[in-house]
Amino acid sequence: MGGDELGLVQEAFATNWIAPVGPHVDAFEREFAACVGSPHAVALSSGTAALHLALRMSGVGPGDEVFCSDLTFSASANPIVYEGAKPVFIDSDRATWNMDPARLAEGLADAAKRGRLPKAVVLVHLYGQSADIDPVVELCTRYGVTLIEDAAEALGASYKGIVPGTRGRIGIYSFNGNKIITTSGGGMLVTADQALAEKARFLSTQARDPAPHYQHSQIGFNYRLSNVLAGIGRGQLRVLEQRVQQRRANCAFYQQAFADLPGIEFMPEAPFGRSTRWLTCVVIDPAKFGCDREAMRLALQDENIEARPVWKPMSQQPVFAGCRRYGGEVAADLFARGLCLPSGSNLTEADLQRVAAAVRRCHRPAATSGRTHAEAAV
Ligand SMILES: *Cc1c(COP(=O)(O)O)cnc(C)c1O
Repeated sequence: MGGDELGLVQEAFATNWIAPVGPHVDAFEREFAACVGSPHAVALSSGTAALHLALRMSGVGPGDEVFCSDLTFSASANPIVYEGAKPVFIDSDRATWNMDPARLAEGLADAAKRGRLPKAVVLVHLYGQSADIDPVVELCTRYGVTLIEDAAEALGASYKGIVPGTRGRIGIYSFNGNKIITTSGGGMLVTADQALAEKARFLSTQARDPAPHYQHSQIGFNYRLSNVLAGIGRGQLRVLEQRVQQRRANCAFYQQAFADLPGIEFMPEAPFGRSTRWLTCVVIDPAKFGCDREAMRLALQDENIEARPVWKPMSQQPVFAGCRRYGGEVAADLFARGLCLPSGSNLTEADLQRVAAAVRRCHRPAATSGRTHAEAAV
């Protein structure tokens, strides 16, 4: 937490606005919209809820297909299934780790040929880095397909002077406990379309018709953000830039610490903007580094340091077995060789040094044979 959150929460208590409505909700929406440069923002209970409403308001329904980034967290794809539609996964490119516009072009051309265009494209901005948005917007416009941006991991990032999440018809953000700023749980939906923003507020508060009694002509959801949590969000927004600097400093530390080591590469920062480095991710080449990703993860675990593999692609998830995909082996390779290092905003210099030393101990010079996962387990 920053410095202001507790005072803002106390204000919610003092004024008795303990409900999913109130002055903090309105102010958080205004302040967030200004922060990302979007005309409208709608505060919701989670990023997943925001994505679900985005898909529903885009008319996604049973039998439809929705294209989605392959390398992502399952919450990007689950709401497609909530609506009875089928996800189709698009591989990453090496420059951004995000959706490869060339693969999207291939998928849309194929879909047009089959006479079955997707209802929407869910473009994910991973690990604090924007995808290459322009070619994706161009393709979606050309084929008349709705673009939804999942910027849950990319608040604070930039793309050619704009904020990822603000180019599509709808963008979503998350304030889960693990994200760069948090309300413990929460999300935001942004759009330039005022009618859409109003519809999202309506659907997220049980779709109650304007009548004195309780009347409903549509199925609604209980997806609004609490006024108490919106108070936390307002305080967090004030320290967003500081959090970005802390995350970027973590990455810079690791980059310097491993500069002389072969076979360890960082997630590239694309030239079109700023990555927040929400997580510092590396890719290990076992032949050059002398140990593979999993051996490194286990060696860190032995020292009570938690590191996690890069997202397992959705196309490899049992729950999405049988879903179509377009692409090669980029996402699969990033999963096989990628590791997310400890990246919290509150890591101390001593913490970072301890992690860096543990990673360095995994390195084996080229002459000796590489330590594999199996050997490390012994
Ligand atoms: C965290 C996350 C979500 C979901 O957000 P919640 O607020 O946890 O529901 C969606 N997409 C991605 C890529 C995420 O990392």
